Amino acid sequence: MLSAPGEAANLAALQGYLDVGRVAIDMAAHIRHLGWDAKAVTTMASAELLHIPLAIKAGLGELGKSGLLITREFGANVRLAAVLTNLPVTLDSPADIGIADFCALCQLCVKQCPAGAISLEKQMVRGIQKWVTDIGKCAPYFVEHHACGICLEICPWTEHGPRISEMMLHRRSLPPIEERLAVQGLQRGSSVVKP
Ligand code: SF4
Ligand code: SF4
Repeated sequence: MLSAPGEAANLAALQGYLDVGRVAIDMAAHIRHLGWDAKAVTTMASAELLHIPLAIKAGLGELGKSGLLITREFGANVRLAAVLTNLPVTLDSPADIGIADFCALCQLCVKQCPAGAISLEKQMVRGIQKWVTDIGKCAPYFVEHHACGICLEICPWTEHGPRISEMMLHRRSLPPIEERLAVQGLQRGSSVVKP
């Protein structure tokens, strides 16, 4: 995917959908074999549900400014599939891996999106303030260029997710910058003169 946009990235993306779809189909078959109802819902073959909100609720990652699911381990470089079932399961909960803090500082996807589909500010969607991609701008570019994926490839989390997550969560444990500067007898805007 790091070569996106291009044929190799397109093939990798399709292979990802295929692989995760197979896992979902096998898992659903196994659950049915146990006696419960189960149905695989792959991204490519169904518009039955939105995978990203479910993945966020399940703690797989957080929503990035690009409108993509960003995971700690693989950044935006993931493909999703789901299994609908009445099998009793232990519910996971949303995870905080530091993406909101990082996206508030980063503008890479906004600047690199060739269609101008990613905005700097969150928008109100069905009563919730959130980052959302303008699909009316993304889709025509995507179709005209036979795919894209630039927002996925340039996101720093895609290559350095675990390190960035650790850094952002550690940052929260630090005292405010004013306190840290005061320890050194400095304040915001002070210049350090080296001997
Ligand atoms: S896929 Fe390409 S056009 Fe669509 S939002 Fe991402 S960078 Fe922009
Ligand atoms: S490129 Fe930057 S702003 Fe965009 S989703 Fe990734 S971390 Fe967030």
